[in-house]
Amino acid sequence: MVAQNQQRIALISVHGDPAIEIGKEEAGGQNVYVRQVGEALAKQGWQVDMFTRKANAADATIVEHSPGCRTIRLTAGPEAFVPRQEIFEYCSTFVEEFLKFQRKEGRQYALIHTNYWLSAWVGMELKKVLNIPQVHVYHSLGAVKYKSISTIPLIATTRLNTEKAVLESAERIVATSPQEKQHMRELVSAKGSIDIIPCGTDIHRFGAISREAARAQLGIAPDRRLVFYVGRFDPRKGIETVVRAVGQSQLRGDANLQLIIGGGSRPGAADGIERDRIEGIVDELGMRDFTTFPGRLGDEVLPMYYAAADVCVVPSHYEPFGLVAIEAMASGTPVVASDVGGLQFTVVPEETGLLAPPQDEAAFAQAIDRILMNSEWRSQLGKAARKRVEDKFSWAGVASQLSHLYQQLLVEKPTKTLVNQVSA
Ligand code: UDP
Repeated sequence: MVAQNQQRIALISVHGDPAIEIGKEEAGGQNVYVRQVGEALAKQGWQVDMFTRKANAADATIVEHSPGCRTIRLTAGPEAFVPRQEIFEYCSTFVEEFLKFQRKEGRQYALIHTNYWLSAWVGMELKKVLNIPQVHVYHSLGAVKYKSISTIPLIATTRLNTEKAVLESAERIVATSPQEKQHMRELVSAKGSIDIIPCGTDIHRFGAISREAARAQLGIAPDRRLVFYVGRFDPRKGIETVVRAVGQSQLRGDANLQLIIGGGSRPGAADGIERDRIEGIVDELGMRDFTTFPGRLGDEVLPMYYAAADVCVVPSHYEPFGLVAIEAMASGTPVVASDVGGLQFTVVPEETGLLAPPQDEAAFAQAIDRILMNSEWRSQLGKAARKRVEDKFSWAGVASQLSHLYQQLLVEKPTKTLVNQVSA
């Protein structure tokens, strides 16, 4: 794509560093989204800086990813991992550091695109000084999340107030699925302007390897019936459901049944504790001999696992979008997912996979079995899944839609001149 715009935009992701390895604690969909959107927008001619909080003293302050696309790590609070529910207290420092950085570079950003409520707050503060348009993506809605958990954290009020304020004040909110938009309207506010632009995936990276070749590389026999989960170890991801579902599969006695649970974790940290709990359930159900935990799956191997799987299970209690579903679909693998949020948008039941009520292990077992026991149907579902992702969910397509939105907002609200902003 020819570079045409050369306008500078800031993608802000206070707690999700776009330059770090994905699959570690708290690194998941948001990090992938910001990085991929950033790189794809840069290819379309934007000068993209992605701002995040420096969470490791050894990390570089500036990382150049590709022409026109950088990650900038600002020091706000300790240069160490801080759980996201404790980051808010450092957000005002983040705002000051952002403004300092902009002054130092002597060029202003034309627009800010914020991610998650912490960044929404930062964006609203920046707007008070910079008067530039703000686009916001929630990634997760407090109003939905707090409905499904028993202990509501102290930070909840601030989060809910921020989520309402940004919906009502940002130039545009981007919902990643019609279901997420509906939740915003029902649970957050009737005011504010929302567009729907989905998340995307790399349709060249996923889908490049055949099932047979992937299995050969991973050492998985062609006749294995492979159920695959990948994602963060977090109770809300519903890993317990997939384990219990496979535990009660009709194929339970079949020597070919295999369950792979991929994802990183650190002993003693929240994800390590969840992994221990899941391993405990695997043991309790006597599933150890056909269940494996390969750990974090990096860029090189993840496409192979998706391609090798007969079915990819996304059992989340709630999911605003769910990148794993479209990555599996892009790889030609049918998905069995919870009938919630963005998964209702990406997975078309009976066409690209199946949906089941969240936490309903019997329904998941039935859906998984239907696919495992009919290999012809499985490959039909897989082909339709691939086609759906090609048509709707490529990063290039997502970036074009965002690009179009930015241009529209910049025409509506031209940025101030350099003279104005340098004094800001
Ligand atoms: N992921 C990965 N390796 C792992 C575990 C997860 O690359 O071992 C990636 C996965 O491929 C996906 C992202 O992390 O791109 C998870 O995004 P999703 O939207 O499914 O869930 P979130 O983490 O945002 O809740």
